[in-house]
Amino acid sequence: MAQCFRFQCDSCGHAIEAWDDGNPYYRDEAGKKHYAYHPSTERELCIGNDTPQLCLSCGAKFKSDSLAPAKNCRKCKSADFVQTGDLDGRNCPYCGKGIFRRDADFFAIS
Ligand SMILES: [Zn+2]
Ligand SMILES: [Zn+2]
Repeated sequence: MAQCFRFQCDSCGHAIEAWDDGNPYYRDEAGKKHYAYHPSTERELCIGNDTPQLCLSCGAKFKSDSLAPAKNCRKCKSADFVQTGDLDGRNCPYCGKGIFRRDADFFAIS
């Protein structure tokens, strides 16, 4: 089961939604990457996970492959980034003033 969280900046109101299980993927015989989302039966074939990241320096969103994790932001090269599911209490890169807080009223399940 996958859960979706929502984090919102307490200053500018910028909101980010995050699924707790990322983007599990498997490769076919040709080596092509396919994503398998809940409740797909291909989930059992998954060998890695592309987890969404948010850069705390420039605010760019990018994916980090669990088998080849990103070390830097794809855009600004900063090493200061977190998984979007881990944003609670982090500084907002969009306004530079606020802190991301988990929105307790928001809850979704796939
Ligand atoms: Zn903000
Ligand atoms: Zn960046």
